[in-house]
Amino acid sequence: MPKINENFLKLEKNYLFINIAKKVNAYKEANPDADIIRMGIGDVTLPIPSVVIEAMKKGADEMGVKETFKGYEDSGAGYDFLKEAIAGYYKSFGVDVLPEEIRVSDGAKSDCGNIVDIFGDDNVVLVTDPAYPVYVDSNLMSGRKVIYADSNKENGFAAMPDENVKADIIYLCSPNNPTGSVYTAEQLKQWIDYAKKNDAIIIYDSAYEAFITEDNIPRSIFAVEGARECAIEICSLSKTAGFTGMRCGYTVIPNELKFKASDGTDVYISQIWGRRQGSKFNGVSYPVQCAAAAVFTEKGLEQIKENIAYYQENAKIIANALDEMGIFYTGGKNSPYIWFKCPDNMGSWEFFDKLLSEANVVGTPGAGFGRNGEGYFRLTAFGDRDRTIEAMQRFKKMMNT
Ligand code: PLP
Repeated sequence: MPKINENFLKLEKNYLFINIAKKVNAYKEANPDADIIRMGIGDVTLPIPSVVIEAMKKGADEMGVKETFKGYEDSGAGYDFLKEAIAGYYKSFGVDVLPEEIRVSDGAKSDCGNIVDIFGDDNVVLVTDPAYPVYVDSNLMSGRKVIYADSNKENGFAAMPDENVKADIIYLCSPNNPTGSVYTAEQLKQWIDYAKKNDAIIIYDSAYEAFITEDNIPRSIFAVEGARECAIEICSLSKTAGFTGMRCGYTVIPNELKFKASDGTDVYISQIWGRRQGSKFNGVSYPVQCAAAAVFTEKGLEQIKENIAYYQENAKIIANALDEMGIFYTGGKNSPYIWFKCPDNMGSWEFFDKLLSEANVVGTPGAGFGRNGEGYFRLTAFGDRDRTIEAMQRFKKMMNT
């Protein structure tokens, strides 16, 4: 009989968004005429820019011609043309990474979840709370101890290190999902100093870097001194370029990043991550890599900027409505997420039910992202403009504003 990995039994029974979908479906069944506006799940809605689609079609055409057909990619780490394009993108915001330090994958969620394979189960993992669920779930699945750094109203939902706490692996996400908060270079430096002092590694999720509008906010942890000695960065084209249904992301591991094995030998993180991926992952499809490379061309960047600007305007509409209602929030400025305090001290799920039943608007209860999310709520700016305006009108009406 197979022995089950009983760590799975310690997880929440359902992934957050499945619970939300169940509630929405039940409401819809009871109220079939309700015109529901969905501002919960963080999926994009605008089509992928034409220059990207053209590149994918060209890549697909090449697969049908003997001379240009591609089978398995040798390394599975991504074609040079894509890794060079990504390195060029980093350079555009002043960060030097080498193409060989980049590994392409089918998305940031996979990399965030899979990277835990290269670390021992006896590590202490520090996650800022609230957080994107995969950081906690993937470590609990392997039986690791997870501790939390509180993100709360007092620190602007940007948790900072506590010198009295010892951790080996630290997950940071900026711009943050779910809170929309960002770390300044000074704040990141504090985390880097903490990591170096504790001989810890930072896993930095920059999936929303393209939404940063303020010049003083780093687009990459590698923009901050010392990061190359203690951090890896995981990024995605999902929100940058609408790739949620295409699947492409990348992880950057500096060549020099190393830790000691128990016998005292140096272990290079890029080497063992490469070994892990080599055994368990056969690379991203060629047409998708062609599409991804097109994102980083001049035309591609121009076109994705228009989509991002559309979402940023939605974020402003949501933020303005919250200002009008006098509700405290974070995010919206450098992020497609707006994270706000539930009115009248309501609990997250209580407010979820109220907003669904009285305004027919779906959001995400903050409690689903961790302890500090209780009493908070997340709305996303990834929706349609008119529907975003309509949702905010309904919200204001519900609040008598
Ligand atoms: N990281 C964060 C913080 C996210 O919010 C998401 C998706 O919502 C991801 C990673 C997943 O990205 P991908 O679609 O590349 O798997």
